Amino acid sequence: MIIRNATILCFQDLSQLKRVDLRIAEGRIVEIGPGLAEQASAGGSARRHARDSDRSEKPEQIIDASGMYVIPGLVNLHAHTAMTLLRGAAEDVNEQRWFNDYVWIYERNLKPEDVYVGTLLGAAEMLLSGVTCVADHYFHMDRAFEAYRQAGMRADLSWAVFGTGEGWDRQVEQTFEFLREYRNRDPRITLSLGPHSPYICPHTFLRRVADQATEMDLKMHIHVCETGGQVDQSLSEHGKTPVEVLGDTGVLRPGTILAHAYYATDRDLKLIRDSGAGVAHCAKTYLKFGDVNDFLLRALDAGAKVGLGTDGPCSNNTLSIFEAARDAAFIAKSARDDAEVAPIDDVLPLVHRGGEILGFPGYGRVEEGSLADLVLIDPATANLVPEHNVFANLLYSLNQGNIHTVIVDGLVVARQGFLLNIDLKEVIAKTVEVVSRITNRDYDGPLQRY
Ligand SMILES: [Zn+2]
Repeated sequence: MIIRNATILCFQDLSQLKRVDLRIAEGRIVEIGPGLAEQASAGGSARRHARDSDRSEKPEQIIDASGMYVIPGLVNLHAHTAMTLLRGAAEDVNEQRWFNDYVWIYERNLKPEDVYVGTLLGAAEMLLSGVTCVADHYFHMDRAFEAYRQAGMRADLSWAVFGTGEGWDRQVEQTFEFLREYRNRDPRITLSLGPHSPYICPHTFLRRVADQATEMDLKMHIHVCETGGQVDQSLSEHGKTPVEVLGDTGVLRPGTILAHAYYATDRDLKLIRDSGAGVAHCAKTYLKFGDVNDFLLRALDAGAKVGLGTDGPCSNNTLSIFEAARDAAFIAKSARDDAEVAPIDDVLPLVHRGGEILGFPGYGRVEEGSLADLVLIDPATANLVPEHNVFANLLYSLNQGNIHTVIVDGLVVARQGFLLNIDLKEVIAKTVEVVSRITNRDYDGPLQRY
C-alpha cells in the first residue's frame, strides 16, 4: 500500500513533513519519500507490458492523501469497552452510588454475548474516531477478543478479577483458562492480568496475581487511587497509600498500567516513575464526578509515564481520545487556574504515549520501521480552517468527521466514516435488543460494594 502526498504531523515536537508518500508492507512503514506512488505506477505499467511478467503480482493499493495529515493511531490506555451498553445509564450520581446503585448491579446481568456486542460497538466508535489500540479491562474477555479480532483493531485485554466476593475463585480460574487458550492467538491482541484495584482486592490476592504475572511473563492493568477518599482509607487501614500497597505487593513494575492514580502523592509519583509503570489519565471521568485536580501537571513534572484513557462509556460517555486530550488540558488549566499550563506540546503527545507504555518503542512518530497504525485526517472542513496553528486545531477543534481513513497493522479498517469489518447497523440492532435486560436493577445487592 502507498499513501500518496500526505503531510506527516509529529506531535512529539510539533513538526510537519509536507507532501510525502509512505510505502507500507507487512504492517510497517517501510519507506517515506517523494514520488513513491509514481514509481509504483510506472513499475506496475512496466510489469503489465513485460511479456514474462509475474501475473500474480497485485498492483499496489494507492491512497491519495493530498491535503491530508497523517498521524499514528491514537491509543486508549484504559477502557471498559463493553460498557458502551451502559452509556447514559448512571448519570448525575456520585462515585459510590454510581458503583453500588447502578454499575455493579447491571454487571450481574452481563452475559458473554453482551460483551461481544458491546465491544464491537466500542471498537466501531474508537476506530471511527482514530483510536487504533486499546487497553481493555473488563469481563468475558474471550468474547471481547473475538470482537477486536473481527474489527481488525489492536488491543491489550485484561479480564477483571476481584479476588473476593461470590464465586471469585472460579472467576480467577476462568481468567487463567482464557490466558492459556488465547495467548499468542493473534499478534495484534496481547493479554494482561486485571486485578480490579487495591480497594477491592485483598492484598494477599494482589501478591498472588503479581507472582502469577512473573511466572507467566504477563503485564498487569489495575485501578488505583481515583479518589482522595481511597487514599485516606488506605492510610488509616494499612498506613500506606494505595500506590505504596501496589509497590509492596509487587504490582508496581515495568509495563503495569495504572488506571487513574489521580490522587497519587508526589512520593507516589516518584515510585511510579522509578517502577517503569505507566498511568492512564482519564480526565472526563474526573470532570463528570466534579473532581478537578492538578495530577497531570505533577505527574509530568515528576517524569512519570502518562497516557490517556477514556474509562468506560458509563462514566465518560465516549471512547474518544482526542476528547480525552482536550479534557486533560482543561482539567489541568482549571486546577491551577492558569491558562499557560498544559500547553499543546505537552498535551497532544499524550494521545500516543500509551503506545510506548503498551510496549511499542518509539510509538507516536511516523517513521520508516514504525507500525502502520495510521490515521488520515482531512482538514478541509469548516471546523479546521484556517491553519494558524494546525496542532491547536487538532487538540481543540477536531471532530470525528475529520477522521478520513484509519489503518491498523497495514490494513484499512475505516474509510470516510464507514467500517470495513463491522456491520454497524447490525451491532446497533443487537445493542437495542440486550440493553433492557442488562439495566434491570431488581437485585438484592451489587456484584461488589464500593
Ligand atoms: Zn476504569
